[in-house]
Amino acid sequence: MREPVLVPRLQPFTSTIFAEMTALAVRHEAVNLGQGFPDTDGPAGMLDAAKNALFGGANQYPPSPGRPELRAAIARHRLRYGVEYDPGTEILVTAGATEAIAASLIALTQAGDEVIVIEPYYDSYAAAVAMAGAERRVVGLVERDGRFALDVEGLRAAVTDRTRAILVNSPHNPTGTVFTRAELEAVAALCVKHDLIAITDEVYEHLVFDDAEHFPLATLPGMRDRTVSISSAGKTFNCTGWKIGWVCASPELVAAVKAAKQFITFVSGGPLQPAVAHALDHELPWAEELRTSLQGKRDRLAAGLAEAGFAVRPTAGTYFICVDVRPLGFADAAELAWELPERVGVAAVPVKVFTDHPDEWKHLLRFAFCKRNEVIDEAVSRLRKLR
Ligand SMILES: *Cc1c(COP(=O)(O)O)cnc(C)c1O
Repeated sequence: MREPVLVPRLQPFTSTIFAEMTALAVRHEAVNLGQGFPDTDGPAGMLDAAKNALFGGANQYPPSPGRPELRAAIARHRLRYGVEYDPGTEILVTAGATEAIAASLIALTQAGDEVIVIEPYYDSYAAAVAMAGAERRVVGLVERDGRFALDVEGLRAAVTDRTRAILVNSPHNPTGTVFTRAELEAVAALCVKHDLIAITDEVYEHLVFDDAEHFPLATLPGMRDRTVSISSAGKTFNCTGWKIGWVCASPELVAAVKAAKQFITFVSGGPLQPAVAHALDHELPWAEELRTSLQGKRDRLAAGLAEAGFAVRPTAGTYFICVDVRPLGFADAAELAWELPERVGVAAVPVKVFTDHPDEWKHLLRFAFCKRNEVIDEAVSRLRKLR
């Protein structure tokens, strides 16, 4: 066989930090605050609905755009932001937000196109842009006024005549930044001016803290019909293994994304779809409790990390908190991340693995706080030994 067998455009993506860190965490019986998944279940009503669907015969292919009751529930849910989508032509159910992002990029961008990606970025973005054959152009967040802010000037400078799309993730993983209306207005102005498609990753839309508010980019003037709005049930309802996501967009954009999606998975999660429809219609109060509880966990972990000697960065949403490791005498958070499981029995993820500019981000380490309080407390008591 010819070597290497993997095509060059995918060669940078052979291993993920999560697999490596999780293996290390298991080897050293470490508390794993690396990967972001909750350690408790979602709402009982949703799990019951899934069980009923599973035993009620919903086990064959659902319709290719997704089950009608789920598309209707997604449309009702999206109305909370004041945007109306036709469940018949403007909503597509996908195998998680991950497939929605990949299918959107594959359908809407190609070789010769540039996609603007904001750094640090969720790890699937770079791989999905590569699968589409397009090129990523990276614009970094900047630390300003005590938060990670959008570099609007940098964003403007990144647009070229080859720019086709911009990928916007807010609430933002890994920094926990929630873009302000003003920041999103700047993105919208650029999209309108240069006729760009926006692809938004809003999987943490319900998980915002304090007075932060989530604004879908599609709600801004000129954006509804050029935005592919993506979300998913995983983070909102503690069911990250279900992989039920969705796309809301104009009929033209949804038809395009569907053209790719139908030959990637065709459909997925048949019996889970009615359960997610139930959750969107009836379990938002549960999601609100999750939000409050996560805000408390954020405060709990932030206080513990500060006591352990890290410089804690603020986080306004998501599952994650970033800390600067330099006050503890480390120059590179990746070095610390590799040592941490063996040295004190905790796993975390260095932020630089989510970037194209590792030097600029090497002082930051990401911890997940979507865990039971006893797990957070155990991690904190172990991390105190670092000093
Ligand atoms: C978890 C996560 C996803 C993946 O969502 P799925 O619905 O599980 O595919 C996408 N984007 C971000 C930023 C995430 O944190």
